[in-house]
Amino acid sequence: MTDAEAFVRPFEIPDGSGERVAVVGAGAVGLTAAADLASAGASVTVYERGDAVGAGSSGRAAGILYDAYAEDVDVRMAARALARFRAFDADGGTEFSVTPCPYVFLARADDGRTGEAIAETAERMRAHGRDVTTTDGAGLRDRFGDALRTDDVGTAAVAADAMWTDPASYVSMAADCARAAGVGILTGDAVGVRTDPPGVVRRGGAVTERYDSVLVAAGAHTKRVLAEAGVPLATKPYRVQALVSRRPYDGPICYDATEGAYFRPHPEGLLAGDGTEAVEADPDEWSREGDEWFVEAATGVLDRRANYEADVSRAWAGLCTATPDRKPLLGAVAEGVFVATGWHGHGFMWAPASGEAVAAAMLGGEGVEETYDPRRFDGSEAFEVVEGMTVD
Ligand SMILES: Cc1cc2nc3c(=O)[nH]c(=O)nc-3n(C[C@H](O)[C@H](O)[C@H](O)COP(=O)(O)OP(=O)(O)OC[C@H]3O[C@@H](n4cnc5c(N)ncnc54)[C@H](O)[C@@H]3O)c2cc1C
Repeated sequence: MTDAEAFVRPFEIPDGSGERVAVVGAGAVGLTAAADLASAGASVTVYERGDAVGAGSSGRAAGILYDAYAEDVDVRMAARALARFRAFDADGGTEFSVTPCPYVFLARADDGRTGEAIAETAERMRAHGRDVTTTDGAGLRDRFGDALRTDDVGTAAVAADAMWTDPASYVSMAADCARAAGVGILTGDAVGVRTDPPGVVRRGGAVTERYDSVLVAAGAHTKRVLAEAGVPLATKPYRVQALVSRRPYDGPICYDATEGAYFRPHPEGLLAGDGTEAVEADPDEWSREGDEWFVEAATGVLDRRANYEADVSRAWAGLCTATPDRKPLLGAVAEGVFVATGWHGHGFMWAPASGEAVAAAMLGGEGVEETYDPRRFDGSEAFEVVEGMTVD
């Protein structure tokens, strides 16, 4: 087996026949896990507080997908996720599709520190077999012409294995796959969980359902749901933003690391984002609208980096989840109780692999990387929120 094949090796999901399993949260991660658990033979119920699937961050994501990671564990997850995204696209039986598009991350010439970090990170990505080229402004210009402004670029890297998609279409495909495999999806109830034995508390505490295992994939609410069950988690929700503009853009996906903003082609024109608020957000009380300061900052970056005059049709916010070491919390937190959160803005692009890995672990398999073990923290750690695309 070559390295590349090893990176996309599916997780071994054991036979789940006879297992009763619950998943809290019908986002990209929970629905992927539910579909995989049911396909392995488990009897699966998904609980979702919203009126429909994708009510959390998965319905608000930018849909950027890439395998450009510098650490081996992250590369394995991202590469497996991309392989599954492609397979779902090729399936033909669903509305889901991906659009291949190179991912450029760059630093301005007057930002030497970030430029050095990009060069070093790209080298580590190549060491893990990722197709990532380091270049400069002239190299970008040769490759992408006038799509990007390049005269002020110092260092750039181009990841070939990248694409974009409509996240909502993944959520609805995963929900269809889950239902077809026999999963029951119950919406409109903000449930709680129990440990010892594992269970789901419904209707404000009126009903407790017992399960062999429970996965909490409740996005920004995960910490709160588990805290109420007496399980502290080292994670903080934080607010990020995105917008769509109507004028066409057909250049690469671009992250300007000096400016801390990204943009990509979109069926309606262009999607741009970041607008990170690096403070802990209250998952029950936050503004869903994009802020004026974000729209102004993002359109300024578009003007400077792509000579693009934005015509904004909508701007919105959503919540991501941070951890002390910027790695996810994926695995068991108590006997039969599992968690999947802490994605630092990468949770959608990893969902096909993280859902699959935690499904395998719930059925007794070896799916989850030790690096992501949620019990590496005790929940009392003090830490700063750092935006996920940051290169340092
Ligand atoms: C503007 C923006 C842009 C982003 N761009 C990208 C990107 O380009 N690429 C990328 O990889 N990631 C991106 N992300 C991050 C990505 O959206 C998340 O990491 C990912 O969607 C997390 O998926 P999830 O299934 O873990 O959580 P969610 O999608 O949030 O799902 C959790 C679900 O649990 C439900 N829930 C919560 N509490 C309860 C309860 N008590 N009972 C029942 N249900 C409950 C919620 O309603 C929700 O539906 C972006 C996020 C935002 C906001």
